[in-house]
Amino acid sequence: MEKFKVSLVSLGCPKNLVDAEVMLGHLPVDRYEITTDESQADIIVVNTCSFINDAKEESVDTILEVADYKETGNCKLLVVSGCLPQRYKDELRKQLPEVDLFMGTAEAPRIVELIERQLQLDVATSEIGTPDYLYDHDTPRVNSSPFYSSYIKIADGCANHCSYCVIPSLRGTLRSRSIESVVQEAKNLAAKGVREINLIAQDITAYGMDRTDGACIEALLKELVKVEGIDWIRLLYAYPDGVSDELIELIATEEKICNYLDIPLQHIDDQILAEMNRRVDEQKIRTLLKKLREKIPDLTLRTSFIVGFPGETREQFDKLLKFVAEGHFERLGVFRYSREEGTAAAALANQIPAQTKKGRLNRLMKAQARVSFEKNRALIGRIETVLVEGYSEETELLLKGRSARQAPDVDGQYLITAGQADVGQLVQLKITDSSEYDLIGEIVEEP
Ligand code: SF4
Repeated sequence: MEKFKVSLVSLGCPKNLVDAEVMLGHLPVDRYEITTDESQADIIVVNTCSFINDAKEESVDTILEVADYKETGNCKLLVVSGCLPQRYKDELRKQLPEVDLFMGTAEAPRIVELIERQLQLDVATSEIGTPDYLYDHDTPRVNSSPFYSSYIKIADGCANHCSYCVIPSLRGTLRSRSIESVVQEAKNLAAKGVREINLIAQDITAYGMDRTDGACIEALLKELVKVEGIDWIRLLYAYPDGVSDELIELIATEEKICNYLDIPLQHIDDQILAEMNRRVDEQKIRTLLKKLREKIPDLTLRTSFIVGFPGETREQFDKLLKFVAEGHFERLGVFRYSREEGTAAAALANQIPAQTKKGRLNRLMKAQARVSFEKNRALIGRIETVLVEGYSEETELLLKGRSARQAPDVDGQYLITAGQADVGQLVQLKITDSSEYDLIGEIVEEP
């Protein structure tokens, strides 16, 4: 039987990455071989993102880039999956004639059936259904993260309907897995050496709201902390008004749950928050931050803001800038508002010029860089538990690592200047220096 080399590029968020891992998990090894060398691949899959303009551009650029391998490499079949085809469906076929097969976000588990069908055809086809798929603990999945770490998608879709966001139309409405399924997946991963699990969804605090069996994020965590072999459980993408007192208590008291929380807030001005259709206002946000700091020692808070939302005045932006400068966050991401057709906010008047958005993004990031520098400086002298991740990209002389304060792929890292340890091991590290985003230290206690 002919064997095909398959290369997959996954763009966008970790939720999209899990779908890519499900696609790879479905490829039978006697027919398909996974390769990271696109020039050698017979089949290239681009798993796309399209929630904002920048993401769309990156997806199209990547598709056109790998399409060259149809001329210069072995590529016989170019497949585009994920949020771009889900959003633009057949429009894409006209714009991207290089592509042979378009798949929606729910077609991930059907990848073999669709590729085998396409191999028999000489015309491009699309298979884009209703975005209602959610994998389970017994779904074949290749963990593309390092062996000691993994994402677990506990739910997909969203029922919040923020006025600027297209995700509900790309990912469908909220659907949550059962607690049993998530716990079983955590056990399966722990058995393979995973020590860190990052829980993801569009909104993890909405987990279980679509179910009638009492599932909720608090009940899930109470079961997950019992899983042997897992040292770190990190919560990503929480919605502010979904952070309950019970959840705060669990983070504060359960050792395995990282004192880390990612809560996208988007803005601080009441009028803007209302026009974003967010269920919180400045007062509620400040009350939540105060409670979190009081209850959870040593908390690492990540958030994200949108600048340049339609109608955002200089005063409203200055209010956000001042709020960030108050130093509430260890980690912060900033997005320029992207006018997305099909969203309520796209129809709003007073769209902000691109140059203004860019300027506001830079000023907000500068303010945060100062905050982050000071917060890291204050950690010098402390001893932290660090997960060794191998050699730094900067130099083979230095090991690198992350602590419970740093999520994979988005936060800074530790550069280890003294001591030895293997990849995937937890060590005690004394912090000796710091920069805006990274920390430097020496291993004081080997594993
Ligand atoms: S919570 Fe809001 S921003 Fe996040 S995915 Fe849902 S609708 Fe979009």
